[in-house]
Amino acid sequence: MATFLRPELETLQAYCSSLDAKRGTLPAQVDHLDTNEFPLDLPAHLKTQFAQHYLYATASNRYPDSSHWHLKQAIATYASEHSSAPIGPHQIAVGNGSDELIRSLLLATALGGYGSILVAEPTFSMYGILAQSLGIPVHRAQRHPETFAVEIATAQALIRQADPPVRVLFMLQPNSPTGNALTSAEVAWLRELPADILVVIDEAYFEFSGKTLLPELADHPNWLILRTFSKAFRLAAYRVGYAIAQPSIIAALEKLRLPYNLPRVSQLAACFALEHRQELLADIPRILAARDHLYAQLQTCPQLRVWPSVANFLFFRLHDPSHTQPLCQALERQGTLVRAIADGIRVSIGTQEENARFWQRLQHYLSVHFD
Ligand SMILES: *Cc1c(COP(=O)(O)O)cnc(C)c1O
Repeated sequence: MATFLRPELETLQAYCSSLDAKRGTLPAQVDHLDTNEFPLDLPAHLKTQFAQHYLYATASNRYPDSSHWHLKQAIATYASEHSSAPIGPHQIAVGNGSDELIRSLLLATALGGYGSILVAEPTFSMYGILAQSLGIPVHRAQRHPETFAVEIATAQALIRQADPPVRVLFMLQPNSPTGNALTSAEVAWLRELPADILVVIDEAYFEFSGKTLLPELADHPNWLILRTFSKAFRLAAYRVGYAIAQPSIIAALEKLRLPYNLPRVSQLAACFALEHRQELLADIPRILAARDHLYAQLQTCPQLRVWPSVANFLFFRLHDPSHTQPLCQALERQGTLVRAIADGIRVSIGTQEENARFWQRLQHYLSVHFD
């Protein structure tokens, strides 16, 4: 490696989606059940309407609005629907995906030896990956092997011993890859955490779970809620995420981001999706019903254990873990992409056809290898 590069970079892996890595080895038609996106594009009439809107609303020679003014207003209105106190635009930061916001949060809190972060594994890998890329130490608490609830006593011990101190705790509601919601004991713990720890509650799957800690945000100045347009709002291609927190945290994030971090088309798309949210979110019950159906199907397989989920994905483990990788590869060869993670497999809920193909391919593998 070139001598001017930071030596830690040697051990970091570049992020590339499973699709990029496997291009060429996959069948022509692929079911993407590995990244928890919404399985359907925007409805055709909305896509057409948006294309028209985009055509007339944008001048390509001008920079996009760097204050995200209209989008922040629209998000504040949407967020206020699920909050006890109204949310204002000054409580919203918008990022190029919530990934950008996670990185800004790390820059704002723990960079330069000032602090470390705490996560509870298994969980979303991006918190740890981004922290490591910035030289920020990552403490990893464990979750209960059966319920995936955080081992709070060990997490507390890590907080007590951490040097540099823990500045951010990343919690997911519901957790990925495991799909479980926060327990009342976990929420009680979050309420008690000291004011010098920022508590990030990632609600990327809020529209599926219906669970949010937003109503309590006003009581906890050290809490921040993270959401995204990449999942239920079907805008993964446009990369829009947002944070809701007290204005002083938002102001810090605004100082750290790149000036024109969000292209105009992305800002317009997010505003457009919010305008049409009734229509877009009306499809969610079908996804949840399909999830419950697949859960019941997986429960009939003696070779695996599946966990209940309040999100748009399911997590299961094979009793014989030596079959996890071969099963993923077999599914992939037939065109179903799933995510091997945390000694198990996470499968997103797709369309009816995608789910049926997954189930049929899984059953085929199990019957060939286990009967
Ligand atoms: C998908 C996802 C996000 C969203 O990331 P974007 O950068 O907004 O696409 C954030 N957190 C978790 C846990 C996710 O699964």
